[in-house]
Amino acid sequence: MMVDPEGFGRRLGDVRDRIAAAAARAGRDTGEITLMAVTKTHGPEAVDLAAEAGLRHIGENRVQEAAKKQHGVKAEVFWELIGPVQSNKARLAAAHFDRVQTVERAKIVRALCRACEELGRPELPVLVQVNVSEDPRKAGVSVADAPALAEAVRAAEHLRLEGLMTIPALDDDPDVARRAFAGLRELRDRLSDRLGLPLPVLSMGMTGDLDAAVEEGSTLLRVGTALFGERESGFSA
Ligand SMILES: *Cc1c(COP(=O)(O)O)cnc(C)c1O
Repeated sequence: MMVDPEGFGRRLGDVRDRIAAAAARAGRDTGEITLMAVTKTHGPEAVDLAAEAGLRHIGENRVQEAAKKQHGVKAEVFWELIGPVQSNKARLAAAHFDRVQTVERAKIVRALCRACEELGRPELPVLVQVNVSEDPRKAGVSVADAPALAEAVRAAEHLRLEGLMTIPALDDDPDVARRAFAGLRELRDRLSDRLGLPLPVLSMGMTGDLDAAVEEGSTLLRVGTALFGERESGFSA
């Protein structure tokens, strides 16, 4: 699906206004919040358009789609995997992404670690994905099991734990997402103390809930629809 540059520019302005307003309400500095462009289902030109506008973090949820798209991208960007990693795609993921946000099981920790070894990649930054809302349809480790998984990542050679990511349960009540974001921040604070690691990255907030995410401490927003318009159906989170 082609993206139109004019529409993108206008939508980007609107998203930046939302971020600024939410940051002001929370007394936060917008400089500590990264807006990542989620380009899944869009072509390489969407990535170049985002990069040209200063959005250097690019989110993709399918390893193979991203690997293919990267050939057509001219800009230097930072590729982030925000979709599930199957063990048999771990090597492709470690080869094509700068960071993996979806570590949710010990098996993935081992698979990524092995992939780095095989590729001769000294270090792969990762986030642990937490299912704070305990939504059975959403991926992520439970809050209760997150400390053990975070320890496993920390102990894994080649993986660098930088923070946490969550996708809240879909709910008409906006407080559901807000509680999940606050929960992720509190978990980060506890894990950071326990592990003695800073864990600066909180990846939370999408098109529908980025305002609450900023107010609750997000440092990395994953935004697709609000930047590029509606995706064709069949491709959702
Ligand atoms: C698609 C996707 C997004 C972006 O969602 P929008 O609602 O289009 O902003 C964010 N996070 C993940 C994990 C996704 O898969």
